[in-house]
Amino acid sequence: MAGRLAHAEEHCRRQGQAWTTGRRFILQRLLEAGRPLKAYELIAMLQAAGRPSNPATAYQALKGLLAAGLLIRVESLSAFHAVSPQAGPQALLVCRSCRGVTEVGLPEEVRAWLAAQQGDFRPEGWICEVVGTCSACSED
Ligand SMILES: [Zn+2]
Repeated sequence: MAGRLAHAEEHCRRQGQAWTTGRRFILQRLLEAGRPLKAYELIAMLQAAGRPSNPATAYQALKGLLAAGLLIRVESLSAFHAVSPQAGPQALLVCRSCRGVTEVGLPEEVRAWLAAQQGDFRPEGWICEVVGTCSACSED
């Protein structure tokens, strides 16, 4: 945990991004949770910790972490998930039951095929979400 936060701080510095206490708090909570959290859940955690918690401040911190590549927004869950920066193009396996997310690197052939479909389209990200049920939830 301390290692990932130190790495994240170093990553922000190298990118010229600010590393604020709010950003650190949010990233730490996401790493501890190990699953995506919704903005309102993070705001509640800020409030519970007695930290500045107005939504504008929280969204500003989320925006900074997204820009730094330390978070992704999982569209199918409307939630945020901590990722390793510079992990490269990947697919997310998203479990509808437990909201667990598994990151899976995309093979080079898939990237090349997707790139060939784009023409002049300029991608900002390569996150692909596959929604379903994880193995643990399938057993229930
Ligand atoms: Zn599951």
